Amino acid sequence: MNIAVYPGSFDPLTNGHLDILKRAASLFDYVIVGVLINNNKKCLFSPEERVDMINETIQDLENVRVMHFNGLLVDFCDKVGAKAIIRGLRAVSDYEYEVQMFAANYQLNSNVETVFLMSQLKYSYLSSSAVKEIAFYNGNISEMVPPIIEEQIKKRINK
Ligand code: ADP
Repeated sequence: MNIAVYPGSFDPLTNGHLDILKRAASLFDYVIVGVLINNNKKCLFSPEERVDMINETIQDLENVRVMHFNGLLVDFCDKVGAKAIIRGLRAVSDYEYEVQMFAANYQLNSNVETVFLMSQLKYSYLSSSAVKEIAFYNGNISEMVPPIIEEQIKKRINK
């Protein structure tokens, strides 16, 4: 079985993430969304909340599972039996960071390949941080995130 991991912070999941996820799900038997537990990064949602929100959003994607993880990504891949890491590429600015990540992961475990999917143009300037900032100032984020996520962001920000 061909299993891929799509790792990230997903704080929160955007329509750009979802597009990459759907495309990856059409290429692999199984895709596991790996929500990174990163204690150094100040997040709007806890890892558990992010997992729940993604789960609610992807109910129609039968071959996708969502888990959180900490530690090395390649170790998580081994644990779940994944041979591929999915990463989305937006503008050129993503490239440098992604090359570094690829090089480190490949050196750690060359049995795990990184597969890059290009963002659709309409999502190429969409990021979780932009969504949070726009929402914070009461801007319209309905075109940027799935409805379930929009609801949760508004609840959290208006607390
Ligand atoms: P990370 O902290 O690992 O960068 P993110 O949640 O920001 O986590 O992103 C996870 C992955 O999704 C990365 O590969 C990132 O490049 C990709 N990604 C983020 N936003 C988009 C988008 N709008 N279109 C396509 N890919 C995206």
